[in-house]
Amino acid sequence: MTEELKFQLGTVEAMLVSKETMVLVAIPPKKVFVCPKGHRYETTEAFIFGCFIGSAQPYLSGPLCPYCYVDWHKENFPTTEVKEG
Ligand SMILES: [Zn+2]
Repeated sequence: MTEELKFQLGTVEAMLVSKETMVLVAIPPKKVFVCPKGHRYETTEAFIFGCFIGSAQPYLSGPLCPYCYVDWHKENFPTTEVKEG
């Protein structure tokens, strides 16, 4: 049984998987986003939609606010559970 040793060195995560093998993974820096409604959040990956419509290049939304996205769904697709019986 191999015991894994995992630790972080600045922006690199190191994982010792055996005596001979160490895996190094770069941790992307967090970015701060703010939307027009004032939601502020940090993430390493922006929330972006994309689609292909008659083009090899995707049409991308650009960074979207996940809070506004969830709120939009709540407002436009509300539903309630029906208790039967
Ligand atoms: Zn927002």
